[in-house]
Amino acid sequence: MRARRDLSKLAEQQFDVAIVGGGMIGTGVARDAAMRGLKTVLFEKEDFCYGTSGRSSRMIHGGLRYLVNYDLGLVREGLREREILLRLAPHLVHPLKFLIPVYGERILHRLKLKIGMILYDLLSYDKSLPSHKYLDKGKVLEAEPALAENGLQGAYVYYDSQIALTERLCMENVISATRHGAVLLNHAKVVRLLKENNVVSGVQAEDVLTGEHAEFRSKLVVNVGGPWLDKVVRDVRQERQPLARTTKGIHLVTPKVTTDAVALFASDGRAYFVMPWIGFTLVGTTDTDYEEDMDAVRAEVDDVEYLRTEVKNAFPRTSWNRIFYAMAGVRSLLRVEGVKESSVTRRHVIYDHETKEGLRGLVSVIGGKLTAYRGIAEDIVDVASRKLGRKISCTTAVVKLPGADPTELERAKANRDSISKEHGITVEVLENLVALYGSRYKEVLEYVKSNASLRERICETNSDIMAEVVHAVEKESALTLSDFMLRRSLIGLRLCEGLDCSQKVAEKMAEIFGWSSQEVESQIKAYKDEIAKRHTYEKEIAKRSTK
Ligand SMILES: Cc1cc2nc3c(=O)[nH]c(=O)nc-3n(C[C@H](O)[C@H](O)[C@H](O)COP(=O)(O)OP(=O)(O)OC[C@H]3O[C@@H](n4cnc5c(N)ncnc54)[C@H](O)[C@@H]3O)c2cc1C
Repeated sequence: MRARRDLSKLAEQQFDVAIVGGGMIGTGVARDAAMRGLKTVLFEKEDFCYGTSGRSSRMIHGGLRYLVNYDLGLVREGLREREILLRLAPHLVHPLKFLIPVYGERILHRLKLKIGMILYDLLSYDKSLPSHKYLDKGKVLEAEPALAENGLQGAYVYYDSQIALTERLCMENVISATRHGAVLLNHAKVVRLLKENNVVSGVQAEDVLTGEHAEFRSKLVVNVGGPWLDKVVRDVRQERQPLARTTKGIHLVTPKVTTDAVALFASDGRAYFVMPWIGFTLVGTTDTDYEEDMDAVRAEVDDVEYLRTEVKNAFPRTSWNRIFYAMAGVRSLLRVEGVKESSVTRRHVIYDHETKEGLRGLVSVIGGKLTAYRGIAEDIVDVASRKLGRKISCTTAVVKLPGADPTELERAKANRDSISKEHGITVEVLENLVALYGSRYKEVLEYVKSNASLRERICETNSDIMAEVVHAVEKESALTLSDFMLRRSLIGLRLCEGLDCSQKVAEKMAEIFGWSSQEVESQIKAYKDEIAKRHTYEKEIAKRSTK
């Protein structure tokens, strides 16, 4: 049976940096800090990538729409990071082709689009992706026959990138940080910041699974709690004004409608997207102020209907009646008031509580995009290093992530038949392993080598195998059934949402952790409850349609 972790023992060490939040930015900070030799600990109250990072549109992009606000610096930052991520994690970050259909809009609008396209190309002068081009109406309908024909003039084509499996990118940062000596704890909630005489000297953390508490001392606390960030620092700040403006965004997951991504303008002028995603179409997003419980955020029926009305106009021959599920997340943006939600800048700010409020030992990160997570982490660790009197340069832009070993990735591609045969698995299973774990697919296959029964598929519909469950527990800190289903294997994102195999996976995890049958039941219930959050709007929609 796997030994329980001992928080109190871990807390005996003195840390340089304690990070609150294990989203994309937090795990990026942990990787960078550890690579620069800082003694680092990270706390995540749920699981890595549980928060906003796992509920985004999953685009790695400059953000064409930010050009409208003349936010050239933000666009350039995104385009630079896009290129870096294509190199650092080629197994996870893939180019994505976008179409922007042009309808009989006013000449000024078309001119703006043309200028936007040219600027986007200029700002991505160092790109490896193709530049924009224009397609006439016939070519557009050939490419995307479901688009509305009426008034269609043509479309611009441009390229950005997609991180379809953000959860896996987060995990790669966790693994890299751990390899460099950091301690990263999921299901460990920071319940209090330790403060003495206006100095924050660490955190009190709770192991959410056991109830154990421990105090961790650290020279600096970095608050990357995403939309929870104000809650994290509430008790230590004198200032009552929140730091972030929080807005909700939802996505619909539907049957596949388009081949490429399509950028569209809603009837209220907002930009939204229809994108291919793991065999589905992803439609999103919305942008509405949200100040309620961040853990309770859901797609409401009005959010769903807003998007559905818009896509019905854009693709009138598609029924859009079938929605598999809807995901909701909350952005934490700079607190800019008096403007529409979508007009608030997506730039990040490192808020040094010492210079702003005289509170030493604490920095918070407000705003920032998933795309820029690595660069944001670099900025934070630069600040941390300065404060701690260390001068080690950042290398995260050049050192590839753990699953990105080019030789192994090439080997897996070139020898897929022989590797599959050697391990008694199908090519499809191997390809799924490479898609999820990159060059680390070999680690999973090591389990198959030592125990042939682990090559068994978890279910008939997905390509995942039982070895992944053991690997997730032993190598990727999966502690609950939901961790494995939603953020290691991603079975829970697929059409079946993992409902048929949850018992089988829970029983395998029970063997490793020594769970009782009662615990197995409660793991399954917790998982099903998490899945149910994506469906809460359905009853209301059914009610409305029978009225
Ligand atoms: C609908 C939507 C679409 C988006 N689309 C894109 C996109 O396409 N491209 C893009 O670049 N960006 C996009 N974004 C923005 C992007 O998702 C966020 O900027 C990014 O995920 C923020 O990462 P984070 O690590 O700061 O926050 P999070 O991922 O929210 O991580 C914060 C973590 O802190 C943890 N935490 C909170 N309190 C505590 C505590 N007390 N103790 C321990 N842990 C705690 C939480 O559980 C959470 O996991 C989108 C955002 C939304 C909402």
